Amino acid sequence: MSDRPPRLGDVIDDYCPRCRLLLNHDVTSLFGTAVAKVTCRTCYNTHDYRNGQAPPKRASKKSAEKKSLLDQVLAGMPPPPPATPPPPDPTTRKRRDLWAEVERLKKK
Ligand SMILES: [Zn+2]
Repeated sequence: MSDRPPRLGDVIDDYCPRCRLLLNHDVTSLFGTAVAKVTCRTCYNTHDYRNGQAPPKRASKKSAEKKSLLDQVLAGMPPPPPATPPPPDPTTRKRRDLWAEVERLKKK
C-alpha cells in the first residue's frame, strides 16, 4: 500500500454489500483525503467506503434462529411412533413351519 492519499479512480479493496465479498473498488467520491464512496468493479454498485471491513456477520444469529424454529416445528410434531417390534424369531417361525409341515404330512 502506498502512503499517498487516495485519489478518484484509485482501485482499493472494499467490501461490496451487493456482492457480499471483499472486492476491488474504484474510488468515486472523496471526503477530504478520505475515501467516501466507492464503486464495485464487479457489479458497479456505488456505496459508502467501508474501510475494507465486512459488516459483522449475522449468519450465526440467523442460523440460531433457524435452529430454534426447527426446534419449534419438532416440538409441535407428534412423538415418533414406538419402535417397530422386532421381527419374529426366525428359528421359532421355522419350527412352526416344520410343525405345519408335519401336520400336513399327517393329513395325507
Ligand atoms: Zn459488487
